[in-house]
Amino acid sequence: MDFPKLERKILNFWEKNQIFKKSISKRRGRPYFSFYDGPPFATGKPHYGHILATTIKDTVLRYWTMRGYQVPRRVGWDCHGLPVENLIEKEMGIKNKKGIEKLGIEKFNLSCRSVVFRCVNDFEKTLRRVGRWADYKNSYATLDPDYIESVWWVFKKIWDMGLVYKDYRVSPYCPRCGTPLSNFEVNLGYKEVKDNSVYLRFRIKGPEFKDIFFLVWTTTPWTLPANLALAVNPEIQYLLIEKDKKRYILAGKRKKLLEGGKVLKKFSGKKLLGLKYEPLFDFLFNKEVKEAENAFSVLPADFVSDEEGTGVVHIAPMYGDDDFQLGKKFNLPLIHTLDLEGRFKKMVSDWSGLFAKEADPLIIKKLEEKSLLYKEEKVLHSYPFCWRCDSPLLYYALECWYIAVSKIKKQLIANNKKIRWVPGHIKEGRFGKWLLQARDWAFSRNRFWGAPLPIWQCQGKKGENKGCGNVKVAGSFKELEKIVKRKIKDPHRPYIDEIEFNCPKCGGKMKRTPEVFDCWFESGSMPYAQWHYPFENKRFLEKTFPADFIAEGLDQTRGWFYTLHVIATILTLKDIGLGKNRPAFLNVIVNGLVLDEKGRKLSKKLGNYPEPKEIFDRYGADALRYFLLTSTPIGQDYRFSEKGVQDTWRRTLLTLWNSYLFFETYKEKGFSPKKRIIPKNVLNRWIISRLEQLKQEVIFEMERYEITKAARKINSFLEDLSNWYIRRSRDYFKKPKQKREKDEFSQTLYYLLKEFLKISAPFLPFISEYLYLELREKKEPQSVHLSDFPKPKKNLIDGKLEEKMRLAREIAAKALAKRAKAGIKVRQPLLELQINKPELKKEKELLNILKEELNVKKITFGRTLKLNTKITPELKEEGLLRELSRQIQQLRKKARLKPKDKIFVYYFASAQLKKPLEKNKKLFVKEAQIKDIIFEKKAKKELLIEKEVNICEKKIWIGLKKTKN
Ligand SMILES: [Zn+2]
Ligand SMILES: [Zn+2]
Repeated sequence: MDFPKLERKILNFWEKNQIFKKSISKRRGRPYFSFYDGPPFATGKPHYGHILATTIKDTVLRYWTMRGYQVPRRVGWDCHGLPVENLIEKEMGIKNKKGIEKLGIEKFNLSCRSVVFRCVNDFEKTLRRVGRWADYKNSYATLDPDYIESVWWVFKKIWDMGLVYKDYRVSPYCPRCGTPLSNFEVNLGYKEVKDNSVYLRFRIKGPEFKDIFFLVWTTTPWTLPANLALAVNPEIQYLLIEKDKKRYILAGKRKKLLEGGKVLKKFSGKKLLGLKYEPLFDFLFNKEVKEAENAFSVLPADFVSDEEGTGVVHIAPMYGDDDFQLGKKFNLPLIHTLDLEGRFKKMVSDWSGLFAKEADPLIIKKLEEKSLLYKEEKVLHSYPFCWRCDSPLLYYALECWYIAVSKIKKQLIANNKKIRWVPGHIKEGRFGKWLLQARDWAFSRNRFWGAPLPIWQCQGKKGENKGCGNVKVAGSFKELEKIVKRKIKDPHRPYIDEIEFNCPKCGGKMKRTPEVFDCWFESGSMPYAQWHYPFENKRFLEKTFPADFIAEGLDQTRGWFYTLHVIATILTLKDIGLGKNRPAFLNVIVNGLVLDEKGRKLSKKLGNYPEPKEIFDRYGADALRYFLLTSTPIGQDYRFSEKGVQDTWRRTLLTLWNSYLFFETYKEKGFSPKKRIIPKNVLNRWIISRLEQLKQEVIFEMERYEITKAARKINSFLEDLSNWYIRRSRDYFKKPKQKREKDEFSQTLYYLLKEFLKISAPFLPFISEYLYLELREKKEPQSVHLSDFPKPKKNLIDGKLEEKMRLAREIAAKALAKRAKAGIKVRQPLLELQINKPELKKEKELLNILKEELNVKKITFGRTLKLNTKITPELKEEGLLRELSRQIQQLRKKARLKPKDKIFVYYFASAQLKKPLEKNKKLFVKEAQIKDIIFEKKAKKELLIEKEVNICEKKIWIGLKKTKN
């Protein structure tokens, strides 16, 4: 069966008949099921991670559509930010920000714009091929002016609540990109690296301290030229230790650093405060430093611990958060030794122009020459790198715009309580913990390609250096257009930078602050911006906020999930139409990574995965989707392998296909479905009970968004259907004792398949649709996806029967194991099975099923399960005939005969085989469903097929001939 071909047919069918559109329009007037799509960057090709998230989304949304909701879906594209800028820089060979300024912002941004949609076609093609239903034509993009206007509106709301401020602070900073990063961006790029770790001698000033040093530790030697103070903890105990004729001060707990030394004195950190020391270098000796009272002295700080280092901390105010706060408290001068590219400034004459981290070894060497180095070693520690360009980040003091997230921590935590996380542990775990330590969000980027900050600040009149402090924040284009009396066509840089106006307070010039938004602010604003809220679609958005459901990867707990949550929480602090105190989403499924079989990342370099297209072409999208839905519990990492997909394809898709084929082959002639079926046979009653149970289970799991559990139920039902129901009911279809019997079985299997396809439709959208169309009656919906998800008929669920059947199957499995152990094939009839389950004594039908399954003449009750393995001559003869019948069936198949084709069988064998056959000929002909069996060897040309086979180690020749009627 060519599933990929079948799927292409279905894709055409959906397209041609506008099934997706109908799935929404059909539900007009019904409540909405609201979904937000996390916009991907379409600058790279789609990979398995995208396919995984898209499968989860599509499955959930198809399910709720079938439950009767309106489920509008649109895709969106993330267009702005460093990922795109870095791509262009690489392509144009631009090394840093200066290079961009030299080229011109206009040219640079036009280039960025030109690549944003480079892979959109690949994305769309892949998503469509996976079967992801969405409104592709009306996709949104974060670069649309409408989108940006809504981002401004969101920002203005946050501004009006007094939660935005500008501050000079130490932030993680990428010197290559020339911009600060937010703390969650930093979390994306930690790496284990080997760094220099040095212990230094700081000589204490004053004749009474001759040859006494502070022992100081650092892993960032490049910060040493900026050292302005040392810090100790006044509450900690310190020691004076003599070693190798030098005396050192360090925390008592760190004594072992000076092993072999002699302790001279113990004292508290308080005693050290105010001591002066000799600077390591003299680069900073300007007027400001000379006048600073506290420069190069020992200051108190409670962040100093004696758990690591030496308990004496080197302070460079511009290059550490604690350092900066301490510097501010003690009025230390704020002097940068590095420029914005992270290179030493002229004042650090020895290394000027050198990148900070590159200067590390030279700084260490210099200190060694000055005899100020006590010890040097390498340490392995995790260090943050830029998630986009891979440069080591520096902690660097800068002016930056912040959102006071720490002020709304309580509300963030309270709103998280309203969200269902799948898997559940993320709620209080990864996400909850992240909220507990929520920090203010540095949301401005000193970059070019992004939504510009709508903040205009007074610069004062010509010749004045300072403005009057007036600030104008625009929450819409109109607001700005009114002031400047011109239209805003493109809100991007550099055009927006040209918008200037007079300060209404002092008559000075109002200029835009040059930064753009962090692209995570933009994607976090998508619930509002995708609909150009509140300028358009006001009522629609307010009806569909918050989202009922979203789904993305685990990395988004600190990315998109977080920014959605922060922005929604702020916007609903007051009810401005979106409700009060609401999260942005109510249910979220979080998936893990897709790794290779051995748990390695999928990488082009390793070549450890097949392209998605190859998988689609070989097994189809359903196989891949179902593999992703069932192979791994949600939240854990996937071990992807082609074999895994192939197994799914065989186990699930082929099984379903074969079950359908069985129905088509053996259904009664002129079959027409009845409205109601009243199954009598135990097999039918059982499988229908299982089906109704399945509906109930899938609904239960899907309502809890336990998508793996729901998907797996489908497969276990299929196993019951094909491995038990169909196998055990074969005879009722092939050689029914009464017409009524065949009718009941045909009706039951038809009902089963049709209902099953409606249950499996969200999980296996293609094959479910294909088979539904094959089985559909005219009056029924045009597509399985336009059907309602079937309601469980509780009166047909028979728990007791299911339990008894389970027992019977358990006995069957054990008895078959005994047969296998004795080396007796199932085709060889045996006399008796003794079982130990008296509760089955009255279950005649079940016992008959067991007898057929196990090929035994009778079942008796006793204390233990026992199989009589004695083969009498009569049993042996019977086995022989069965084997022959099987061989004939195989030849039929090989000759591609249909079940309705009638045949003559010719055979030639020794007397040992001929005798029993002639004796039981009448019965054999009936059982094997042939016209006749004749002892005669015919010429090959007269036959359809011939073969010599072994039966019980005896040779027998068989030939088949088709008859006309
Ligand atoms: Zn960077
Ligand atoms: Zn002013």
